[in-house]
Amino acid sequence: MPLIAGAVLLAYCFVRFGFGVFAGFSWPVLGWIPLPVMSLLAAHGCWWTSNRFGLDAGTTRFWRQLSLCCVLLAAACVGNAYDALRVPEDFQHIGPVTATLYLGILVFAIWALLRLPVWERSRAEWIRFWLDTGIILITTGILVWHFSLRRADAWAAQTGSAIPVLAIAMIASVSVIAFTKVAFAGAGRLDRRAMHMLSFGTALACAFGALMPFLADRPQLNTAFLAVPFATFCAQLAARRQARAAIEEPAERPVPRRFSVVPYLAVGGMDLMLLGTDLTRSAEGRLIAAGTVAITALVVARQITTLRENNTLLSTVDTNLRQLRDYQVQLAHQVRHDTLTEIANRANFEEQVTARLAGGESFLVALLDLDDFKVVNDRLGHGTGDALLKAVSRRLHDRLRGEDVVARLGGDEFTLLLPDLTGDEAAVVLRRLIQGVQEKVVIDGHEMTPRISIGVTASVPGDTPEELLRRADVAMYVAKNAGGGRWAWFDPAMDRIADQDAKLGADLRQAVARGELRVVYQPIVELPDGGIAGVEALLRWRHPEHGEISPAVFIPLAERNGSIIEVGRWVFEQVVAQAAAWQHEYGDLAPARVSVNVSARQLREPGFVAEVAAVVAAAGVEPSLITVEVTETAVLGTGAALDAVRGLNALGLRVALDDFGTGQSSLSLLVDCPVDVLKVDKSFVDGVTTASPQSVIVESLITITAGLRIQAVAEGVETADQAHRLHQAGYQYAQGFHFARPMSGAELGKLLRPGPVPA
Ligand code: C2E
Ligand code: MG
Ligand code: MG
Repeated sequence: MPLIAGAVLLAYCFVRFGFGVFAGFSWPVLGWIPLPVMSLLAAHGCWWTSNRFGLDAGTTRFWRQLSLCCVLLAAACVGNAYDALRVPEDFQHIGPVTATLYLGILVFAIWALLRLPVWERSRAEWIRFWLDTGIILITTGILVWHFSLRRADAWAAQTGSAIPVLAIAMIASVSVIAFTKVAFAGAGRLDRRAMHMLSFGTALACAFGALMPFLADRPQLNTAFLAVPFATFCAQLAARRQARAAIEEPAERPVPRRFSVVPYLAVGGMDLMLLGTDLTRSAEGRLIAAGTVAITALVVARQITTLRENNTLLSTVDTNLRQLRDYQVQLAHQVRHDTLTEIANRANFEEQVTARLAGGESFLVALLDLDDFKVVNDRLGHGTGDALLKAVSRRLHDRLRGEDVVARLGGDEFTLLLPDLTGDEAAVVLRRLIQGVQEKVVIDGHEMTPRISIGVTASVPGDTPEELLRRADVAMYVAKNAGGGRWAWFDPAMDRIADQDAKLGADLRQAVARGELRVVYQPIVELPDGGIAGVEALLRWRHPEHGEISPAVFIPLAERNGSIIEVGRWVFEQVVAQAAAWQHEYGDLAPARVSVNVSARQLREPGFVAEVAAVVAAAGVEPSLITVEVTETAVLGTGAALDAVRGLNALGLRVALDDFGTGQSSLSLLVDCPVDVLKVDKSFVDGVTTASPQSVIVESLITITAGLRIQAVAEGVETADQAHRLHQAGYQYAQGFHFARPMSGAELGKLLRPGPVPA
């Protein structure tokens, strides 16, 4: 279609003006025909575009309205031709109907333009838009008037009415509004380039129209005839452009431009006219002067708006900058501090250590770890765990000197940098610190006694922060393994031990799967005849390289690396199965009590009691057949262990307090904890034959246990003399090499046949 229209336009220009210039012939009827044709082609183009898929409602509406304008324009052209052809050729008569149609079309076009979709604008932007429109309207108005319309008399003479003058002014307005609007349009699917083409077409039409009075004496060259074909051709190209844009991505919102040269060009143009006009005499001079004043006022208003907007922008920028600076400060703090406790973080700590090392200073680095923190987290939740960490960090912070640094490495690990302390002073500081931190604290209604283990090391030249922390860590583990709640200096021997420990620990993890573990049973006998009253299950590990390893070595190791959970589970299953097998095989002669050792770590494991219950139920043995041996320290450690012991007791299992007298023996434990059996440690039994404090304790213990209806078992009885003395003191049960060494389940089975146990 645009091709046909282009061809028509070209042919028209050629025929009409070629002949007009050289032959002076204007072909009155034919000269009019292309005008409605071109208008209808444009109407078709606009309508076609309005039906394109992908346009928004506002854009579709605009192209429909433009199509309607073109149809009306075709009608107006026909009317215009009719008016013109009725009068002599050089008189361009326009009848009232045609004139009304022309004006109607222009009003309609302006209205359609004003309704175009626009981006959301601020109030200041709208004010600027209207000021710009005002400036351009006044300037172009005066320019058009100055160069063309003031010859309105010539126009009126040529066309028979003043309406064409008005029409030209309105065409100019359409172009101006289209131009200005373009800067603001583009929301939705309206294409900016299409709008530029439209405004170019109307501007061209305006220019052609305005030339008319200058060519009044050469009607065959009347440029007004070109106004409609060019405008409609441009409308058609614009429609085509819009149709292509409909399938492209929607345009991004353009950044509104605050600065525009248009107002200044307008002022410049007006000033030029002012200079070229005699202001004193003519009405024209007064008009131009008034126009210049108006433009200047508008430009000043625009300037003020922009200034005010700039001020607001500047204050926003100020506020943003201030916020940015605050964020920076906050960020810098966050980068160097722990978010939970607000004390220094690892990076900060390492930085300070590096600085002191670089300065050649010597100082101490201590690593602190909360004992059993995992239990607090697991049982009471992370919220309580966090609160405990905060309380501990506060206590650390409050008890250190100003020059000391306390930092949180992560989890429940803290670290200290202690300058200018001798070894003795450090001992005092650390002891005080441990005491201070280990005071009771109530968090979320739970009373807790946090315990910490500390490892300390002194810096030496050439150290790095990592090496210092590593040494402190090794020492801390030694403190922890020694029972926790204490501190230890780093010793190079610790490195060796830690190394071996790590290797053995790794082997132990695989020992169950490789079948290197076995359970042996040591009889617990009745005094004085030595009949088997029960057995204690004891674990054995034959290492493929190192041979038999004592439980005294590998059990603490398993507790440290956590494999005791798996190993302990295996032992418990073996023991319960063995107990069931003996019952099955020997009936009444089978051991009436089977003891199994359970470590603190197992007791604290969530779900331990339920697991025990399931194993016992699956084996089908009486729960009271099984005795669980726990140490005092295990039960004293945390509330969790004590709860587990109570749970086991509730299941019907018996509870024995092992190695009694070696830990922080507290007789109150016999009241708090549901104890059925008390196993008096070998260290007391050893002294029972001499007049020693041990023998006094052995004797007093039997009185206490008898009163509390607790069975007492003497451990580690090695001689007949000891056995005799214990019996005399009132002991009914004993265990030791004197009666029997630990043996396999099968060997023990042989002893279960009737007859006395060999002494
Ligand atoms: P325990 O529970 O106090 O076990 C008694 C220990 O004393 C056993 O050492 C036993 O062999 C030893 N013993 C018995 N009679 C005598 C005696 O007359 N003289 C001497 N010198 N020792 C005697 P064992 O088997 O080396 O076990 C050491 C510790 O390892 C046990 O002390 C117990 O605390 C722990 N343990 C052993 N097996 C297990 C287990 O399966 N689980 C857990 N958690 N701990 C275990
Ligand atoms: Mg035991
Ligand atoms: Mg024991």
